[in-house]
Amino acid sequence: MSATERDTDRDTDRDTDPDTDRDTDPDTDRDTDRDTDRDTRDDSGLRVGVIPVTPFAQNCSLLVCTRTGRAAVVDPGGDLDHIDAGLAQMGARLEKILLTHGHIDHCGQAQHYAERHGAPIEGPHEADRFWIEQLESQGRMFGFPPLASFEPQRWLVDGDRVGFGELELEVLHCPGHTPGHVVFFHRPSRLAVVGDVLFQGSIGRTHIPRGDHETLLASIRHKLWPLGDDVTFVPGHGPTSTFGQERHSNPFVADR
Ligand SMILES: [Zn+2]
Ligand SMILES: [Zn+2]
Repeated sequence: MSATERDTDRDTDRDTDPDTDRDTDPDTDRDTDRDTDRDTRDDSGLRVGVIPVTPFAQNCSLLVCTRTGRAAVVDPGGDLDHIDAGLAQMGARLEKILLTHGHIDHCGQAQHYAERHGAPIEGPHEADRFWIEQLESQGRMFGFPPLASFEPQRWLVDGDRVGFGELELEVLHCPGHTPGHVVFFHRPSRLAVVGDVLFQGSIGRTHIPRGDHETLLASIRHKLWPLGDDVTFVPGHGPTSTFGQERHSNPFVADR
């Protein structure tokens, strides 16, 4: 499968110790063990997998609480079997679906995924309701399988917190690409999942209904940058980067 993984606790020993494999096939999964090393690692408790989904190669993030094996999946826009395979590979069980914004590649299959697992959907901010209400027509336009609008169990606002397992993420409302876009931040591991707000070397498109370039720049500079240059972010598309790197070289938002 195409998952790329990043262990936020930077434990380089894990993959060299085959003795920790117990519960699954040791050839395909060295990462499911959580019990043998949890007391000896000074870790943030979060492991992250990223799986590109849909024809738009949208980065679906698998956030796993290492102490409980419970997972939050951010933006399951499609390719649900791939996402489930990724969860199985990480030895994780879905607890919650989180959405950054209402675009089809991010949330088109979220309701199907919620029904498959009996999991709640949290996010985005309610200002993206108009996008979610257009999923059916957007799906036809882009040749997706039939989609329907849905109502998340919880709309999010700036300053909210969302929990899964023993972990908690901070919610930042970052409008501009869409008016209801939110970002999820795990402070202990310095990881942000930013959707289509910011990319390596670029920023989200704003020439779309209710997009606004200046609002997006303000979101990045006033919401994201204060979190710290050391924050690694998973963007909605393309490779991960850090806020520091983008402040240095991103042509749209670098410091001058
Ligand atoms: Zn988008
Ligand atoms: Zn996108």
